[in-house]
Amino acid sequence: MPDTKILLEERDIPTHWYNVVADMPNKPAPPLGPDGQPVGPDKLLAIFPMSLLEQEMSGERWIPIPEPVREAYRMWRPSPLFRAHRLERMLGTPAKIYYKHEGVSPAGSHKPNTAIPQAYYNKEAGIKRIATETGAGQWGSSMALAGKMFGLDVRVYMVKVSYDQKPFRRSMMHTWGAEVYASPTDMTQAGRNVLAQDPNSPGSLGVAISEAVEEAASRPDTNYALGSVLNHVCLHQTIIGQEAKKQFEKVGDYPDMVFAACGGGSNFAGAAFPFFADKAAGEKRAQNIRLVAVEPTSCPTLTKGVFTYDYGDASGYTPLMLMYTLGHDFMPPGIHAGGLRYHGDSTLVSHLLHDGLIEAIAVPQLATFEAGVQFAQAEGIIAAPESCHAIRACIDEALRCKATGEPKTLFFNLSGHGHFDMASYDKYFAGELEDYVYPEEAIHAALEHLPKFG
Ligand SMILES: *Cc1c(COP(=O)(O)O)cnc(C)c1O
Repeated sequence: MPDTKILLEERDIPTHWYNVVADMPNKPAPPLGPDGQPVGPDKLLAIFPMSLLEQEMSGERWIPIPEPVREAYRMWRPSPLFRAHRLERMLGTPAKIYYKHEGVSPAGSHKPNTAIPQAYYNKEAGIKRIATETGAGQWGSSMALAGKMFGLDVRVYMVKVSYDQKPFRRSMMHTWGAEVYASPTDMTQAGRNVLAQDPNSPGSLGVAISEAVEEAASRPDTNYALGSVLNHVCLHQTIIGQEAKKQFEKVGDYPDMVFAACGGGSNFAGAAFPFFADKAAGEKRAQNIRLVAVEPTSCPTLTKGVFTYDYGDASGYTPLMLMYTLGHDFMPPGIHAGGLRYHGDSTLVSHLLHDGLIEAIAVPQLATFEAGVQFAQAEGIIAAPESCHAIRACIDEALRCKATGEPKTLFFNLSGHGHFDMASYDKYFAGELEDYVYPEEAIHAALEHLPKFG
């Protein structure tokens, strides 16, 4: 029987991040200010260090990873690649299924891959504090961990509904020494505006981002950090796909299809972009590879959104970015994959989709939990509800292979474990979860409010 667990040595942790911009046929459009003019780095220096802004705008293919960052990555990297023998047998598929387990990080997801370098570069720039937001708590806990590793204070604006429903992620952040507030708060103008309209507002990621950005912009010792969407975040995540390629090499295999759950796009970018690099470099084995971003039908940014300029937050504090969007005041329904409820998407992922170089599909909530339970019962690992989206898409393809007899090689990124999401699994078992397809009318309504500029 071929290997189940494909491991690397610490020295195999990548030495560089891969910047997909170098290989994009159409380069990403620049962020714009409210006047319709490109926003230069000077405007963003109030909330980001120059080193990260350089990465944000870089066209260099390979960007070196600082040694202290690689040192911190050693806490959990390289992460294992698994061959899912048991799942293959359970499905009776001729397909080979592999998955990379990013849930082995201390915070339990792929997000520390970028929280660590963001903390490092801010520390190097003399910053003392980070203000950030979190939805379900995956990003906030990753930033709390990274802040502690590099000696930064961290304040997290946590979307109120999650603050109330996910007390243990809050406890994790406290354990790593971060301050956590339920957003909207009365500490920022953005928060006070929302509370004035609705004192019981459950909050949203867009509002929490506005609060954190406002705080960072108003204090010289404080910067802002974002856990997805931005180019430098996608860049940092490419260690996932690079490690996976080495692991595939070890077993003499190569994927035909790559699947990853897509919220703001960095998880997908991390798993898929290094394979895109092979294709762009003209490698024969990569010419027909299919890279598939998987999103929920309740927040169908890539599959039903519009490719246009929009704000990254609810209040319009961020620059305008060209991306697929459902409108910045889109209020996502309370589905249980909190990490996939963002109205927009990475500019890089959006451009590649628009150019037909990657694919996107949407899957409904109940089917994702069904896949997660099947995966847990075959492979033992309880996946985060976000990751269950990739599992669903991969299982569906494995079943198609069963019908056609095609022995494809399938790969998905297991972006996180679900140990803090058991209440969601319980709801699924109790039959309390529903499928939700975001109605076309609501999408049209949100798109009415797209910014007008220039
Ligand atoms: C945040 C998160 C995602 C989505 O990641 P993006 O980079 O925003 O697309 C997927 N899985 C898990 C476990 C997450 O925490």
